[in-house]
Amino acid sequence: MVSRVIPVEVFDLVIFGGTGDLARRKILPGLYRRFLAGQLPEGMRIIGAARTDFDDAGYRSFVNDAICEFVKPSKHDKERIKEFVENIHYLAVDAMGESGWTELAALMRPGVIRAFYFSVAPRLFGPLAERLHEYEIADADSRIVVEKPFGRDLETAKALNGVLAESFDEHQIYRIDHYLGKETVQNLMAVRFGNVLFEPLWNSQYVDHIQITVAESVGVGGRGSYYDKSGAIRDMVQNHLMQLLCLIAMEPPSDFEPDAVRDEKLKVIRALDPVDQADIVRGQYRGDDDVASYLEDAENEDSTTESFIAMKLGISNWRWKGTPIYLRTGKRLRDRTSEIAVVFKDPPHSIFGPQEGRRGNVLVIRLQPNEGMNLRVTIKEPGPGGMRLIEVPLDMSFAEALADGDDIPDAYERLIMDVMRGNQTLFMRGDEVEAAWAWTDPIIEAWEKARTKPVPYDAGSSGPDDSLMLLHRDGRRWREIKA
Ligand code: NAP
Repeated sequence: MVSRVIPVEVFDLVIFGGTGDLARRKILPGLYRRFLAGQLPEGMRIIGAARTDFDDAGYRSFVNDAICEFVKPSKHDKERIKEFVENIHYLAVDAMGESGWTELAALMRPGVIRAFYFSVAPRLFGPLAERLHEYEIADADSRIVVEKPFGRDLETAKALNGVLAESFDEHQIYRIDHYLGKETVQNLMAVRFGNVLFEPLWNSQYVDHIQITVAESVGVGGRGSYYDKSGAIRDMVQNHLMQLLCLIAMEPPSDFEPDAVRDEKLKVIRALDPVDQADIVRGQYRGDDDVASYLEDAENEDSTTESFIAMKLGISNWRWKGTPIYLRTGKRLRDRTSEIAVVFKDPPHSIFGPQEGRRGNVLVIRLQPNEGMNLRVTIKEPGPGGMRLIEVPLDMSFAEALADGDDIPDAYERLIMDVMRGNQTLFMRGDEVEAAWAWTDPIIEAWEKARTKPVPYDAGSSGPDDSLMLLHRDGRRWREIKA
């Protein structure tokens, strides 16, 4: 079969923060997997840059170890790893000082795509952008990749956008939200806009409500004091859940060009209603014999930061007015699972009699674990004995459905390849990020002003009981948190 994968031109990818956790766990192993898949062009180079004093050989050994630790053993091919690391170099560069920059400038090759991954703390984004510009390392076609968090409110996000804009055009800036790189998230667009089946029903006339759940079973231990400064709304809702919501709710873009898609996402954020505090539940997990409480993990016994949040949102536009969207995300919940459930309305009338009930269809888009989709439909229970109805799932698990299903690229791999291809569709534009903060800021300000404390919930539960009430009072209920 002829490959339909869009090829990537020769590039130099500089990873600032090349010695850090993200580079080790995600970026470098992801690049190796794309190398194995034959998608990295001959002549490409990956240049690690940080303050640590490595030479090329030392850094190659660091990359080799990262691959051995974070790529599954069946992909450990000594020869192939050796070939891969031959493309890797290292330069000690200080983002806050002048050391290493002249050497980096000298290393750059003409006529080759240049990409700079800012896998460092956000306070270094500005200094890096400035120096890439000052030392004439970045050219008009260069790309920079920036990690979350992108600001902590509208003011800081605007300032960050401003700093980056001094050295780079918007078309050069790739703001990563790795949720957008997930196979299922893109499939959501394929299902919505590649089929005629769903789109006519995708509105408040047929959709009763939508649930978006991102549940984690781990606590914040280890990075508790960092997390305590952000909480679930900043860490998850403003970025990941908001992006999922945009893709579910947006109008069909005119084409799959980056700005056409991002314009439609932006319109969703701008159409979000302000949220009433009564429609928000914030929680903090309790500890038990086995696990520490949130307050212990955060090392802050007076913390008012939420490790769980559930909210009911409304979108004021023709398509969605009247269809509530319920979001929830939290730590130390029953299972690690992320899904979007589109719950359709019940059929208006049952021709099979009241005893058979009327249950609406549910389309579930699973992001993790086991990426896939599942549509609940009503059918007749097989066998004689009258017309008895049952609900069955039409299940599509990507791992099973695709020939090499366990090779679904990780979100980071896909996004890095898109950077190299110069495709910004799956990256957040500056105005999108600002609009999301403009919507989030008043919510945070209101609870900070009222000094409201999150309610406690048991570790391993589905979150606080109040969150169940958020749906019960509307005659609905959350789907079970189950991997
Ligand atoms: P990290 O482990 O603390 O690594 C930070 C990196 O920055 C190190 O390579 C460090 O190397 C380098 N660095 C620090 N100061 C520097 C300077 N003055 N000049 C040059 N390099 C410098 O952090 P991380 O977890 O990899 O996270 C990196 C970024 O990704 C952060 O913005 C984070 O919020 C974001 N992020 C991380 C994850 C994750 O899973 N880790 C997930 C999502 C987003 P030296 O000490 O050698 O200089």
